[in-house]
Amino acid sequence: MIKRILTGDRPTGPLHLGHYVGSLANRVRLQDEYDTFILIADVQALTDNFEHPELLGENVMEVATDYLAVGLDPNKVKIVVQSMVPELCELTIYFMNLVTTATLERNPTLKEEIKQRNFTNGLPVGFYTYPISQASDITIFKAELVPVGEDQLPMIEQTREIVRRFNRLYKKILIEPRAMTGQVARLPGTDGGAKMSKSLRNCINLGDTPDQVRKRVMSMYTDPTRIHPTDPGHIEGNPVFTYHDAFNPNKGEVADLKERYVAGTVGDVEVKEKLFAALNAFLEPIRVRRAEFASKPERVREIVVEGTRKGRAVAQETMREVREAMKLAYPL
Ligand code: ATP
Ligand code: MG
Repeated sequence: MIKRILTGDRPTGPLHLGHYVGSLANRVRLQDEYDTFILIADVQALTDNFEHPELLGENVMEVATDYLAVGLDPNKVKIVVQSMVPELCELTIYFMNLVTTATLERNPTLKEEIKQRNFTNGLPVGFYTYPISQASDITIFKAELVPVGEDQLPMIEQTREIVRRFNRLYKKILIEPRAMTGQVARLPGTDGGAKMSKSLRNCINLGDTPDQVRKRVMSMYTDPTRIHPTDPGHIEGNPVFTYHDAFNPNKGEVADLKERYVAGTVGDVEVKEKLFAALNAFLEPIRVRRAEFASKPERVREIVVEGTRKGRAVAQETMREVREAMKLAYPL
């Protein structure tokens, strides 16, 4: 049987460069080799957007269009909308018995995200338990491989623990997945923050216009210790160079810029101009394909409906096995 991939994104905004290097590039590269399911995780996104559910609906089609724009082939991958697969909720409830609150409390990504979100009316149980719901997403599709950014590694570890417990307690039917991070496991934000993130507004989006990209690049965080172009600069922890490494195919140019930056013989403006040119060249074909699909929303809708239908069929089959393994398949 051909091995499966499951991964996904929250429809909290358009996809950005971090998604590309962290996960999308691997999805595109592996789509011929793996039976690929990609989840638009609107149920997960609700856990911290439940007061504005309309925002998610608006982004479902945007995210699907981004997938097609980066080269995911609708004849190969299934794009699945999470809320349209209610079996996922059922599996989450069963999995909740297999996880302790102490384990959730130790999850470093969850801890960090709770801090960032600064929930004013207390921590919603839905958000607190999203790693369990994510374990359902992965296992219901019997995925072996999960291409994700580094922030998601604790979620995959949590999933593996749940699968081991389930298989030991009930019956060995679930697959222990493995994570695969991208060429850059965690792309920093344009503000120099640890992670480019839709919710943090420190992104360059895949669909941004050249003007938007230029503005973002020119106002990027660089080396705060460098006041004049003649000051020796730091490469380490400088997101402008992280982006050059990730997106500028001209390695000679990047090496030269680094050398001159450290020596204090190049200004930030030149480094950023060259980054802008490289990013723009990278984004142009994505923009062209994006515009093509954006002009055919009916076609995108069909792709999502079809992907969701196929995804749901797999989920229903797994749930039949799960109920049987858990002795819930009563003759009623
Ligand atoms: P939100 O702020 O709403 O959580 P996000 O920008 O973190 O949005 P997600 O939809 O949560 O995006 O993440 C989707 C996938 O993209 C995950 O696998 C995640 O690890 C990966 N990813 C997101 N941001 C980055 C990044 N900056 N670097 C590498 N991978 C990333
Ligand atoms: Mg996220």
